[in-house]
Amino acid sequence: MFRVRCRARRKNRIRRHRVKISAVRTHILEAALSQPFAYSRAWYASRTAMLVEIETDSGLTGWGECYGPARMTAPVVDAMSRWLLGQNPLHTDRLWQQIYADLRDHGQKGLVVEALSGIDIALWGIKGKHFGVPVYDLFGGPLRTSVHAYATGLYRRKRGNPLDYLSQEAAGYVRDGFHAVKLKVGFGVADDVRAAQAVREAIGPDVGLMIDANHAYDTVAAIELGRRVAGLDIGWFEEPVLPEDLAAYRAVKAALPMPIAGGECEFTRLGFRDMFATRALDVVQPDICAAGGIGECKKIADMAATFGIRYNPHVWGTGIGIAASLQLMATLPTHTPTSLAPLDPVLELDQTEHPIRQAILKTPLTHVSGVVAIPDGPGLGIEIDRDALEAFRVRPSA
Ligand code: CA
Repeated sequence: MFRVRCRARRKNRIRRHRVKISAVRTHILEAALSQPFAYSRAWYASRTAMLVEIETDSGLTGWGECYGPARMTAPVVDAMSRWLLGQNPLHTDRLWQQIYADLRDHGQKGLVVEALSGIDIALWGIKGKHFGVPVYDLFGGPLRTSVHAYATGLYRRKRGNPLDYLSQEAAGYVRDGFHAVKLKVGFGVADDVRAAQAVREAIGPDVGLMIDANHAYDTVAAIELGRRVAGLDIGWFEEPVLPEDLAAYRAVKAALPMPIAGGECEFTRLGFRDMFATRALDVVQPDICAAGGIGECKKIADMAATFGIRYNPHVWGTGIGIAASLQLMATLPTHTPTSLAPLDPVLELDQTEHPIRQAILKTPLTHVSGVVAIPDGPGLGIEIDRDALEAFRVRPSA
């Protein structure tokens, strides 16, 4: 009798948890910038975003974001809805593995994994809301309640002397309380050296300075730049060379004294495997909206920790990408786990103009003196402002 009652109770429990995905929607958003800005390879005149909304028959909604070209990731997510509709949204790993396996022959990197990332983030948000806990609780609990952020900015503009406007911008980040700033390089070695010197002078000796070439250089130019700025206490040299060329990464790493960073153009734990196994870099920067989502990035982070490689995520999206990154960052081990003064992972906080970034959140995710609190609400801990979605929505062409 007792056993029968137990079985019935267990059955009820299972039935209560049987929730189904009822809708998958994509939102392509775009906003013009007040003035264009450039990194080493291109100019930006607008910012776009591709958001994924997943609804369940239990009334829960999850939000995800895809890094990459919004008009191309949206149809890939739309096509993936056939794997999702009617499925249990709590089965994050099963659904990820199934979609990845079914598309393995055609999409081990790039758009397919970016689409999968947005879906995965939305599903983890649903799972957190379903159990009434933040995502970091589902990964074993938080190691921290806030993270230090560094300012990503210091791009090039159409007008003015770069040495002047870069110095002013960098000094502004220091006034805002940031403990570190990242300068875009890749505009020619001599030009980069002058810019790095100007920014170092503007921020003083106690604020961190990283440089990011967005893989504009070959090994020769990257090593030359690294040697010429080595005296400026460079926190890391990011994407010095092409992301596909791990031998070039190893050559740059062997030649230069500062840590080498990269990984925003790599995908899934399978993609990161050789990078880690051959110790091609010191700091790995997967983008949660590109590399496979929350579940996959947790696996990549565990691999990074196993290989003794620092994990500091690449973040370049809206509040959804920031929130998902923060949930994962809550669970990351410190870089120096046995030290009495542990060195924690740092958040990349994009300070360039992005009208959509915070507007889609009901409560913005901002920093106070360079520190960002990790939201502790259910799921990603954010709420979406649907009016903002309408304001930035790209209308389908007639
Ligand atoms: Ca970068």
